[in-house]
Amino acid sequence: MRLSTTRYELVKVNGIAFLLAVIAIGWVGSSTSEVVAPPGSVVRWVGTEIDSCGVDERRFDPIDGACLIPVDLLREGASKAVRLRAGEVESLTVRVGEYPYRVQRLQIKDDGYVNLSAENLERSRRERERIEALFDLQTPRRFELPLRFPLEKRLQGGRFGSRRIINGEPRSPHSGADYAAGKGTPVLAAGAGTVALAEEHFFAGKSVYVDHGGGLLTMYFHLDGISVEPGDEVTAGDPLGVVGSTGRSTGPHLHFGVRWHGARVDPSLLYEAPSSWVVVRSP
Ligand SMILES: [Zn+2]
Repeated sequence: MRLSTTRYELVKVNGIAFLLAVIAIGWVGSSTSEVVAPPGSVVRWVGTEIDSCGVDERRFDPIDGACLIPVDLLREGASKAVRLRAGEVESLTVRVGEYPYRVQRLQIKDDGYVNLSAENLERSRRERERIEALFDLQTPRRFELPLRFPLEKRLQGGRFGSRRIINGEPRSPHSGADYAAGKGTPVLAAGAGTVALAEEHFFAGKSVYVDHGGGLLTMYFHLDGISVEPGDEVTAGDPLGVVGSTGRSTGPHLHFGVRWHGARVDPSLLYEAPSSWVVVRSP
């Protein structure tokens, strides 16, 4: 859109400048690929001889012959992915597609979780700061795809991305997946990693954060009890705690969230075969 505006203005100003702009756009176009992906998805950019991958300011290694580019749930516009392949830099514009998720209306009985007191507002702000520091962790990759489902029995549901109207007021969209399970059901690590945080937070209740390396962080919220401590090493399927309803919750369930290179993505994509993702193949 911006390009065509520029073009139009240049035409008005000077015919020669217009011609130069068209040549420049043509040249950029021939070396750049583009893909449209929904918010909260992962783009699998396949190719041979890939040395490294990147998106925005982050750089990372390929997995199984592809750059896996997560698209944040709240991202708008486009981001630029790059990769180094056989000594050449290649770029891919990842344009964020339409928001595909539904509206969800919720009633929270305890108004203290909807209209926060000054004290709780300050508490949740402090907790957010501690959590945000985890999104930038850069440790070697230990997980394998697909991830393990975080409960013994695979459940449907999730409502990832749903736009939330809580007690009649629009709130942030749901950035994880919810699974209704009985109180006390074991919650399991989705992959190998290190427990980065295990504590009780205002909104998330008793929570565990696992750093899997390779920029992947998984989160387990509203637990009734936590059985790990920060620094503990876990492998896929290790118990982290049990399902509960602590924090802002309407009943016992596991909220499972994923941040990958800082982006909120639909967890269900990670326990499916990566072949189900948006794929870009280039020569
Ligand atoms: Zn949730």
